[in-house]
Amino acid sequence: MDAIIARDGKPVFDNANPAECGEGEALVRVRLAGDVPASVLDASPTAEDGLLLGRDVVGLVSEVADDAPQGVRDRLLKSRVVCSPYVARGTCDMCRAGVSQHCRHGGVMGRGDIPGSLGETIAVPWRNLALVPEGVDDAVALLAGPLGRAVPAARMIRMEGKVYVTVLGDNLAALLAVQAIAKLNATVRLLGWNAEAFGRAERWGVQHRHATEVGRRRDQTVVVDCVGSEASLDLAFGMLRPRGTLILAAEPDPGTPVDLAPVVRGEIEMVGASFGPVADVLPMLAEGEIDTTGLIEVRTRASEAPRVLSRPELLYVAVEFA
Ligand SMILES: [Zn+2]
Repeated sequence: MDAIIARDGKPVFDNANPAECGEGEALVRVRLAGDVPASVLDASPTAEDGLLLGRDVVGLVSEVADDAPQGVRDRLLKSRVVCSPYVARGTCDMCRAGVSQHCRHGGVMGRGDIPGSLGETIAVPWRNLALVPEGVDDAVALLAGPLGRAVPAARMIRMEGKVYVTVLGDNLAALLAVQAIAKLNATVRLLGWNAEAFGRAERWGVQHRHATEVGRRRDQTVVVDCVGSEASLDLAFGMLRPRGTLILAAEPDPGTPVDLAPVVRGEIEMVGASFGPVADVLPMLAEGEIDTTGLIEVRTRASEAPRVLSRPELLYVAVEFA
C-alpha cells in the first residue's frame, strides 16, 4: 500500500505492507491523514526505520478485532471515524485504573515505535476511535487530533474570571488553544512571532500582540505555553504574576535549559497538559465552535507528501489516500 514512512531519519513515500488487525485493534481505510510538518521532522530521526509516520486520521473502519464487544463492533464497522493519537498498551497500573492516557508504556502515533496514520490502511486501538458526526467535513474532522491536544490546556484550570490570560505561540496548538480559551475567558490574548497568526486571531476576535512588544510586567494570571522552548519559557516566567499559573502544553526538547528560579521566587504553579480523547472535542467541531478555516495549509497526494512535510513553516498538512 502507499505509505509515508521514516527512512534514514526522513519521511519518504514508499510501498508498505498493509496493516493487520491485531488484538485490541481495528483496521481503518484512511481517507485523510495529517500532521504538523515540524513534528514529523522532529519525529523522523528517532522513529524506527520503516515506521509509518503521521499522527491524525479520518477514515472508514473495515475490520474490528474479535475482542471488542459486539455492540462496539456493530457501531464501528463501516463507520467514518477519527482516532485519539495517544496509544496505551493496556497492561500497566494506570491503564487498569482507567487513566490509560497516562499509560506507562504508551506513546503517540507516528513517533518512536508506534505506527502512524500516513498509509492506505492502518491498525489502531478500537478503544481510540470515535464516530464523526454527519455533516462534519473530513478536513474538519481531521483536526480533532490536534484539538484534542489543545483543549486539555484550556481545561486544566478554571479559566473563567481570571484576569489576563496569555497563550504563547503561533503554531497550530496555540491557534486552537486560544480559540478554546476565548470561549471561557474574553481577556485571553495570543502572543507570537508570526504576523500570519495575528491575522487569524483578528478574524476570530481574539486580541494579539507580537512577543517582542510586551513587557515582562509580571501581571498575567495564566500563561499557556504552546512552544516549550527556552525563549518561550523565559518569556512566560517574565509575564506571570506571583502565584500565577503556567500551563505547559508543548514538550520541551530534551536538554532545553530552563531557569526555574522564578518558579520558586514567584511561587508559580506549573501544570502540564497532554493529549485528550478526540471524542471530547468532536462536538466542538460539529457545532462550529472552533474555526478551522485555513489551518490545513496544504492538502496533497501521498506521493507529494514527503516534499510538503519537509516544510516546517507550514501549520498543518493533510494527505489524501482515498
Ligand atoms: Zn498502560
